[in-house]
Amino acid sequence: MDSLWKNSINFDKKFSKLDKSLDCDVCIVGGGIFGVSCAYYLSKAGLKVIVLEKDRLGSKTTGNTTAKITSQHGLFYDYLINSFGLQFANDYLHVNNNAIYEIKNIVDLENIDCDFEFKDSFVYTTSESDLDAFTAEKEALDALKFDCELTSSTSLPFEVACALKFSNQAQFNPLKYLYSLCDVVLKNRGDIFCDTCVFDFKKQDNLNVAFCENGYTVRSKYLIIGSGYPFKNVPGFYFSKMYQSTSYVIAFETDKPLFDGYYINNAPPIFSYRTALYNGKRIALIGGADHKTGKEVSYSSTYSVLENELFKYYPDANILFRWNTEDCISLDKLPYVGYYSNLLENVFVATGFKKWGMTLSNVSANIVCDMILGKKNEYSHLFDSTRINPIKNIDEVKNMAVDTTFSLIIDKLKIKDFDFSSIPEDSGKVIDIDGKKVGVYKDKNSNLQFVNPICTHLGCLLSWNDVDKTWDCPCHGSRFDYNGKNLYGPAFKNLEKFEL
Ligand SMILES: Cc1cc2nc3c(=O)[nH]c(=O)nc-3n(C[C@H](O)[C@H](O)[C@H](O)COP(=O)(O)OP(=O)(O)OC[C@H]3O[C@@H](n4cnc5c(N)ncnc54)[C@H](O)[C@@H]3O)c2cc1C
Repeated sequence: MDSLWKNSINFDKKFSKLDKSLDCDVCIVGGGIFGVSCAYYLSKAGLKVIVLEKDRLGSKTTGNTTAKITSQHGLFYDYLINSFGLQFANDYLHVNNNAIYEIKNIVDLENIDCDFEFKDSFVYTTSESDLDAFTAEKEALDALKFDCELTSSTSLPFEVACALKFSNQAQFNPLKYLYSLCDVVLKNRGDIFCDTCVFDFKKQDNLNVAFCENGYTVRSKYLIIGSGYPFKNVPGFYFSKMYQSTSYVIAFETDKPLFDGYYINNAPPIFSYRTALYNGKRIALIGGADHKTGKEVSYSSTYSVLENELFKYYPDANILFRWNTEDCISLDKLPYVGYYSNLLENVFVATGFKKWGMTLSNVSANIVCDMILGKKNEYSHLFDSTRINPIKNIDEVKNMAVDTTFSLIIDKLKIKDFDFSSIPEDSGKVIDIDGKKVGVYKDKNSNLQFVNPICTHLGCLLSWNDVDKTWDCPCHGSRFDYNGKNLYGPAFKNLEKFEL
């Protein structure tokens, strides 16, 4: 089901496909909030920009977020001080807090109707055993001289053991905001193309050239990769530094009074609450049930977890929308922002927002745009995209080492003999035929469809996701529908299909 945000705008309105090769000053790959924010700033600075989007604008993580605009990224500041020092944590806090006001300024300046509201943000716990972590976080914020409050009083419909409150944070409808930024880009001579997948980029004649799957190219001095997970593996090597994590969201209406502000708890199982406006009515969202993308999931381990929590407190709730999406998480929990690689001139990236991309996309767009415009940005050192991290997660690395030269030369007779009765209708499974893996989906009429269940990004074995009926990659989070069509990157090629 589409998200609340997609249902609140004319999401069917399409930008056309790229239908000829073009030149511009800055080519931006990816029409999510980061890419479109860059297009906004750079087109206002007088540069000719072109945005190339594989699907529809905002159709991936940005269109499925919960859109809290906050510098409270969980209990994070104690971690930041311990890992990177006081000055670093101070800069992180201030740049994210400033981003709230930067977004508000854009909303006012461009007269954007996107349900922007100031709200207090809370991280809470219901467990007394977490109190030490809250005390440590408060001490960290005191050390940063940030005004926040520990309290046990909230407007949630249940008791909390403790909550940490940041005042004057904000929330909005991310797609109303994104589509309004696009209007400004178009007014400033920018071009936006959808259904246009970029599969590679290279330097030619001193320009960066983006190669699109439909055969056209865009040549530019500057290239920004805003595709979420970067799709070009070398150089950059982002595949060794980031994974993706999926979360689920339910939007509901109720006749019971709703809470004020927004909330997230500090430890799994994660529950995130906010209110929103829908058709002029105040409704609420509950999100969570996070897991690493590619893990085997069922309805009972995802949406049911949220529904059980919801009906405990709002037994009359009417569920309006259910959706899910994923975001990139780096191993040190910081985004990568700046040069894609030291080896590539004038190619920029921002990724790894770890589910806090509303402020971080604005911060990143400012850093990247300042680099392009030759302006000093005092926060550019924070998220240096060329920093080198040790690969800490050995399981992911092992999983990435699956044979990438798999080919679909299989014995079809043996497949015919295979007993598929163990696969329920509308479900899928990876089966093994003489050492060859085959992805099978059995539809509601018991027809079988076969794909090569090997990710087209780096050759990891995919797993079946029975909630969304997709093939998901446990290494880097690429996702494909049951028919093999690519949905989420970093992969961009569809899975091989075959018929019996
Ligand atoms: C469930 C959930 C809830 C969240 N809630 C919050 C929140 O409350 N507050 C907060 O701050 N953050 C939140 N986040 C995080 C935030 O939504 C993301 O960090 C942010 O939306 C990422 O924006 P983006 O532009 O980087 O990526 P996207 O929105 O994914 O945009 C990338 C775009 O690039 C396109 N693309 C990919 N590959 C190609 C290609 N090869 N060629 C052309 N185009 C391509 C994609 O189609 C996509 O449209 C949440 C994340 C999740 C998963």
